[in-house]
Parts: sequence; structure tokens; C-alpha cells
Amino acid sequence: MINIAAPVIGAKERQLINEVLDSRILASGKFVEEFENKFAAYCGTKFAIANVNGTAALHTALLSCGIKAGDKVATTSFSFIATANSILFCGAKPIFVDINPDTFNINPIELEKKLKKEKNIKAVIIVHLYGCPCDMDAILRLKKKYKFILIEDCAQAHGAEFNNKRVGSFGDAGAFSFYATKNMMTGEGGMVVSDSVKIVQAAKQIVNHGRAGHSQFTCLGYNFRMTNLAAAIGIAQLEQLDEWTKKRNENAAKYNDAFKDLDFLQIPIIPNGYKHVFHQYTLRIKGGQRAKFMQYLKDNGVGCGIYYDTAMHRQPFYQKLGYKAGLCPEAEKAAKEVVSIAVHPSLSSQDTDSVISVIKGYKK
Ligand SMILES: *Cc1c(COP(=O)(O)O)cnc(C)c1O
Repeated sequence: MINIAAPVIGAKERQLINEVLDSRILASGKFVEEFENKFAAYCGTKFAIANVNGTAALHTALLSCGIKAGDKVATTSFSFIATANSILFCGAKPIFVDINPDTFNINPIELEKKLKKEKNIKAVIIVHLYGCPCDMDAILRLKKKYKFILIEDCAQAHGAEFNNKRVGSFGDAGAFSFYATKNMMTGEGGMVVSDSVKIVQAAKQIVNHGRAGHSQFTCLGYNFRMTNLAAAIGIAQLEQLDEWTKKRNENAAKYNDAFKDLDFLQIPIIPNGYKHVFHQYTLRIKGGQRAKFMQYLKDNGVGCGIYYDTAMHRQPFYQKLGYKAGLCPEAEKAAKEVVSIAVHPSLSSQDTDSVISVIKGYKK
């Protein structure tokens, strides 16, 4: 079976983990600070604050930007559920926006419609889904016009670029995940990046119980701190990220070339000026064939997965909150058609060859 994800763990990870164990400083420590500095430099932001996971990083980013109960926060309708949940954690109201069917990312035209209709949308969380950056020219134009706070969910897009600028550096804050299957990982882990001293000071307090000084707690905070162990893995992984991204892109280009003429599927589209990092290589299977196609892949040893089979506003919990079918038709359609196959850097050329020959052998 060719698995859809396979974390890479090498000598450097083991060496740094041993250094942490030898130091006997397992909770916060110098590796966390080193990881924060290196990650900020990588993203091209002034600061980074480590978090216990990507969901906590989104929550921290929203709180640090001043999102409060009753605020309206717009976001895409097609992402992992944590994106929308982080809005609810703040007591704020998610406003779901439909996607661009080509990139699966938030559609700026639909976003502007919501900004006009809802008037007081305070913040927007965009998601660079599957590793494909959002249309940042259009998003930044809207930010200037409507003056909302912009938060980037970069959980799937470490190192992705729009016009040579890295994701995480466009908004007021960016949130990353280092969950075990992401482009780089720490087991569980996350990071908030920002250029704003004010946001970063707030984030530092929020991840550490609201602490401001030795025994003074000046806001309601959480324990969202990253461990020294996780940070040690992160430092080792970051050094290899660009090499892995290159491999992901090579695998994706090979697939795109092999699949471009197959009429039952749609290959991923990479617009000019976008640097995709292929967290997922996601096909659209046309004509209601997805279940049959996936069964065929499984029967032939090709792992696959659906990200996501339900648009966020159609999850049972969100239905209970009153979000209706038909709110975001493109997201609802994508949820019925997408399927992702392995694109990770551990694939050998025999692996990708065999994925290609299996898919080319599919009979409708
Ligand atoms: C993985 C992911 C998250 C959550 O990150 P965790 O580290 O798993 O908490 C949030 N948003 C998106 C788009 C993700 O893919």
C-alpha cells in the first residue's frame, strides 16, 4: 500500500531530542526560542510564538488580534473544522464564504459580497488549502478597502509563496500547524507569526496563562506552550523543509503531466506567480464516480483520502447553529468530488510510477 502520508524522521531529529533529554529541560526552553527565531526568519516575519498545536495557534492569533464575543469573522467554507471552531472559541460568529472551484481557496468576489452585506465583519481567516496560496492581490485589495483584520491559516502551506512572498507574512498574523502529517511536523505543534509587537506581546501572554511578569496575570490566558522536545524536532525538520517541498512539487508535476488528458478527472491548477507546496495532491473526480474510483485505488494498493467530504457549514454541529445547505454551493460540490493521493517526499519514483499506471488503468 502506498500511504497518503509518511513523516520523515532522521538523524538530526534524534540528535536534538537527545540534547533535550540530556539537558533535562523538557517543557519550555532554549530550543523553543531557537525554533521561534528560525521559523520567523523562514516566513519573513519579525516574530513567531510557538504553540501546542495549530488549532491553539489559530485561537491565539484571533485573541491576540482582539477578536471578542459577538464579533463577525469571515472564513472559507472548505477547510479543516479547526479553522471555523477557532472563531467559535472566541465567542465570535463565523461567516462562511464560498470557494474558487479551481484553487479550492476562498473566492475574493464572494468575500466582497459578504463584506458588503454583513457590513461589520471584523476579521477574515483565509486558508491556503492543500498548500496553494490564496489570491493575495485580491485579498489585500479588499483588506485595504474594508479594513478587516487578516489572519492566514497556513497549516497546510509551510513555505508557499505568492509573488515571491511567503504565506504567513501577508496578514496581521499567520497560524501554522506541525501536526504529524503536515509538510513539517513536531508530532503536535503550532506557531503564530506576525510583524506586530502588539499582537506578539498579546500572543506571548495568551499561550502562558495571561502571565505578564513573574506572578502577575493580566488577561485570561491558556497553557498553549510548546515543549522543548517538540521544538527540537521542529528545528531539525525546518532545515529539510525546502528539499521536501521540492520533492512534493516534482511528484505533483509528474502526476499532472501523466493525468492531464484523463477526462474523468481534473488535475490541480497552479496559477502563475503561485508557489504551491502540495500538502495534498487533490483531484476532482467528475460524474459521480468518486466512490468507485477510490475503491479501485484501494483494491490496487494506492492509498487515498478525502479532504474534506463535508463543507464546514454542513457539519452536524454547524447545522445545529443554523447554517443551511446551499450557502456555499462550490464548496458543497467540491466536497463531493475531491480525492487526494500520496505526494509526500518519501515516495520513490517506482511508487509514483505505480500510482500513475493504476490511475491510467481506471475504467469508468
Ligand atoms: C491541521 C490543520 C489545522 C489544525 O492544526 P492542528 O495542529 O491539528 O491543531 C487547522 N487548519 C487547517 C487548514 C489544518 O489543515
